[in-house]
Amino acid sequence: KVNIFWFRRDLRIDDNHGLFQALNAGLPVVPVFIFDPAILAQFPDPNDARLTFIHRCLTDLDCEFRKFNSSLQVYVSSPEVVFGQLASKYPIHSVFTNTDYEPASILRDQKVAQILLNKGIGFHSFKDQIIFHQNEVVKADGSPYTVFTPYSKKWKEKLASHPIPVYESEKHLYSLKHLSSDYFPELTEIGYQLQDRSFPEKKFDSILVENYAKTRDFPAENGTSKLGVHLRFGTISIRKLTQFAQMHSEVFLNELIWRNFYMDILWHFPHVVEKSFKTAYDFIPWLNNESEFERWCTGQTGYPLVDAGMRELNETGYMHNRVRMVVASFLTKHLLIDWRWGEAYFASKLLDYELASNNGGWQWASGSGCDAAPYFRVFSPDLQTKKFDHDFKYIRKWVPEYGTSSYPKPMVDHAFARNRAIETYRKALK
Ligand code: FAD
Repeated sequence: KVNIFWFRRDLRIDDNHGLFQALNAGLPVVPVFIFDPAILAQFPDPNDARLTFIHRCLTDLDCEFRKFNSSLQVYVSSPEVVFGQLASKYPIHSVFTNTDYEPASILRDQKVAQILLNKGIGFHSFKDQIIFHQNEVVKADGSPYTVFTPYSKKWKEKLASHPIPVYESEKHLYSLKHLSSDYFPELTEIGYQLQDRSFPEKKFDSILVENYAKTRDFPAENGTSKLGVHLRFGTISIRKLTQFAQMHSEVFLNELIWRNFYMDILWHFPHVVEKSFKTAYDFIPWLNNESEFERWCTGQTGYPLVDAGMRELNETGYMHNRVRMVVASFLTKHLLIDWRWGEAYFASKLLDYELASNNGGWQWASGSGCDAAPYFRVFSPDLQTKKFDHDFKYIRKWVPEYGTSSYPKPMVDHAFARNRAIETYRKALK
């Protein structure tokens, strides 16, 4: 008999909870990754760099496993079909994996667990992506928090009384089944081009994190960790990063708690995927002007901080958090374009795209989310520039033509747009 470990968004060998449990369950372990066409369909761009990132991670895992005469088994098909094939190839005792908390993944896993159960195969899922799951940090009456500050207080109390466990999966790889790999797909086989580019380093930088509180709001500074993509695909352990944050910066720790908070919100309130957290905000009569949306996407609004952010995103797949807030506010308030349009655009571009945090960030900016900015707070891009890019260093990097005649005039007047937004929101929310 064998056990299977199913890698998903936990593409690492160290401190991997589900992998650790699989390797210690007393049977040889077959490591598996599945390119699921239903997920790939959400990545229509053949040059999407996230596929290159994943492919590199899989290659690295395979290299590690080869040291133990094993290899990563990679499939391109729906999980239902793959587990059917695996079950006819191996006498499987159980499938191990790490829990994924997104609504679509929960449904998929329920389906897979049922199929396996019908074949007499167990399905075991472990907490790995977050420190506390949705029912661990709740109010005294068991209901979920919808405001961040009390949530984070409770989260920290819980952490103080629950030391973070360590799962040394990397020390148990000798339990992998000896396997030669007969198939490892090239990216082109699944419809993507390998991108010749680098990705943020997987580095816990103590100097950066110690200065984080001072530097994190200034987009021209290299003041944030850029670890988002690694948290997204699980190439670093959230437990290790949290311990590191505890040692070096409370402000940084808070940001990791925001990530956990939004994941909990998504779990408790899955309607946020489609709708506003606060129902009243679904009555805002968005203008949704397509050509204005296009100017926002391409960084041609005439507001240099907004344009710098959008160009950084388009070119690198990354945008600084401060600027994400500014461009999101600009789209929803200045242009009165539905936050879902912006959310979808970010989802198509961000290397660190995460449904929970992206949705949370957009609903925060549009005012419709839990614990969101009040609707009458409309960021002034110029004031934000004065505060956070006063010497125009960030703007000059991404909008070199700023100040010349080839740079467009502001597409909408700030004072006009601000009043229009407040009036529109006020009427809709009455
Ligand atoms: P750091 O500042 O170094 O923070 C470390 C980690 O903490 C991040 O990698 C991230 O995992 C977490 N984190 C930091 N800030 C937040 C936050 N506000 N909410 C949730 N988690 C946070 N974050 C994503 O991971 N994916 C997204 O798709 C995403 N979309 C966003 C959309 C909007 C409109 C806004 C306003 C924010 C969004 N964020 C998103 C949150 C935040 O902007 C990014 O996490 C951060 O900029 C990533 O850069 P970093 O890794 O250098 O972060």
